[in-house]
Amino acid sequence: MQRRALLIGTAAAIAGALAGHADALGPPASPATKRRLLRRVRPGDPDWPSDADWRRLRADVGGALTVPTDLWADCRSAADVDRCRRSFGERRNPYFLGDQAAGTQVYGYLDGWQTAPSVYAVAARSTADVTATVRFARDHRLRLVVKGGGHSYLGGSNAPDSLLLWTHALRDVVVHDAFQPAGVRGNPVAAVSVGAGALWMEVYDAVTTRHGRYVQGGGCTTVGVAGLVLGGGFGSFSKGFGLGAAGLLEAELVTADGTVRVVNEARDPDLFWALRGGGGGTFGVVTRLTLATHPLPGHAGSAWGAVQAADEAAFARLLEAFLRCYAASLMNPAWGEQVKLTPGNVLEISMVCQGIDEDAVAEAWREFRAYVDAPANRCTWQEPFGSGVRDPRTWWDAVGRKAAGSTSFRFDDRPGADPRRAWWSGDSEQVSAFLYGYDSLWLPADLLSDAERGPLAAALVRASRRLPVGLHFNKGLAGAPDAVRAAARATPVHPACAEAFALAIVATGGAPPLPGLGRPFDAPAARAEARAVREAGRELRALVGTPACYVSESDYHLADWREEFWGPHYPRLRAIKDRFDPDGLFYVHHGVGSEDWSDDGFERVT
Ligand SMILES: Cc1cc2nc3c(=O)[nH]c(=O)nc-3n(C[C@H](O)[C@H](O)[C@H](O)COP(=O)(O)OP(=O)(O)OC[C@H]3O[C@@H](n4cnc5c(N)ncnc54)[C@H](O)[C@@H]3O)c2cc1C
Repeated sequence: MQRRALLIGTAAAIAGALAGHADALGPPASPATKRRLLRRVRPGDPDWPSDADWRRLRADVGGALTVPTDLWADCRSAADVDRCRRSFGERRNPYFLGDQAAGTQVYGYLDGWQTAPSVYAVAARSTADVTATVRFARDHRLRLVVKGGGHSYLGGSNAPDSLLLWTHALRDVVVHDAFQPAGVRGNPVAAVSVGAGALWMEVYDAVTTRHGRYVQGGGCTTVGVAGLVLGGGFGSFSKGFGLGAAGLLEAELVTADGTVRVVNEARDPDLFWALRGGGGGTFGVVTRLTLATHPLPGHAGSAWGAVQAADEAAFARLLEAFLRCYAASLMNPAWGEQVKLTPGNVLEISMVCQGIDEDAVAEAWREFRAYVDAPANRCTWQEPFGSGVRDPRTWWDAVGRKAAGSTSFRFDDRPGADPRRAWWSGDSEQVSAFLYGYDSLWLPADLLSDAERGPLAAALVRASRRLPVGLHFNKGLAGAPDAVRAAARATPVHPACAEAFALAIVATGGAPPLPGLGRPFDAPAARAEARAVREAGRELRALVGTPACYVSESDYHLADWREEFWGPHYPRLRAIKDRFDPDGLFYVHHGVGSEDWSDDGFERVT
């Protein structure tokens, strides 16, 4: 099996405020209601819906009920290795996976979950389809699972023996010059309304390529809009524009009681707050989101290169120098994306910028380049430094980039596919990967002070001895404009996000553990790599007082998930969950309220 060290994110390139508004829902559910549901129904159980029940649901959703097929069936035995390998190719295409009811972007997570089709799927085409499905699942005590772009690392959109609510067909994108959230006072703002099943590439195409504006979404173009926003959500330019969730102006969703709600700062403000980072698949099924748009910055650009240090000591000094230059010249709204620190003492640079011109880009890197070029520092450019800027309107113009010979994007090459269906080449290695381990941690900006930089560099070197460590600067908001940081603090995302200069990520994985791929799965080796991820995470956690990490990019086996994902916000999120979903219809691994349930979400355990 080919071992891969994953540099998660897009390597190519990106509530409290609500207090004072009364919630209109009424009193919270009584404890008796809360404890009513103890066990969900599986196929074969006497309470499993009859064929007639399923026929009724099919009629209610206009025929949109299907039986998903197992995408990996041809690889589950070693009988026909050639056939499995041949079809593996299409499973490296994120759009192919996204177009299948049973498709998930990663194959699974070691000792956590593996992709498996639901028993039935509703490919909802309207809010009414969603309502009918939610009510059916509730009335029949089914395990309901919600899927949009299918990019959950934790398997949040995958559950065997479940009914899948798939938002794939809800993908209208409407750009507004002036949008007024219902019942909210103030001036209308420019915005975009997006069906919950849309992928970010479709939104960027409409907003930036065709309308010349900017919307804060994800870095990976094939991530689902709803899933990203519900988890908080970062893109390459988040240091300038903030969390995807902070841009949410309004959402339509169906809650566990089967009610359609339009929520915003004025309507159901608690629920609206929870949707902006409280996690996907937890508070209801979002059908539509409206997000603020911004004027496009003057330029968008990037800087790249790789520096080889002569040995570990030179690498530690290189990192310290880089972090000093980062704090002085790059920790500002202009710069995002990442560097990777490898076991071979290489610092790989894959940064992007917005709003600054070519001269400002060159100036930002001058001091660091001088450090690398000084012979006494024992570093060499393994890949020469390069940089450039472009018209930001062309950033997501996949067709234009392709015509210009760029290899930044890969394309959906299936016959008849829309030529705009593209993904950053740097995200390719994650498609259909089986994760062995994954960890993330917000690194506070205090660690960049003169006193702390040395210990930080030393810890990063130790953490990078067996696996690459990525520093994702756009996923920590220290250095962002004050308003952007304040907007992040007004969401349920852990407050550490606003104080962090970067999110450190360590992850590893390989090909799916399937006999049809022709090589036995080496479980001990995979577990050893998972241990290496945990060891790296421990090195970095030792640096910070209160560890915190990003819910959407985290360890499946994390013990303190409530504290690390949401910290002080957890009690409020839990209260909102109990109020809007007292029976726990919406369950996801490590989601708010999931502590009440068995790991598979079938048994209520408290
Ligand atoms: C290759 C890759 C690249 C990534 N890049 C980035 C990145 O650049 N920036 C970043 O911040 N994150 C990134 N992520 C993480 C990603 O943002 C989250 O996994 C996100 O939740 C995925 O949303 P989705 O709709 O694609 O996935 P899904 O798996 O479909 O959904 C994720 C979760 O949200 C729930 N959900 C989905 N739709 C709805 C809905 N309509 N209503 C209610 N719940 C819903 C699901 O039940 C599930 O629990 C990346 C992930 C992958 C695999």
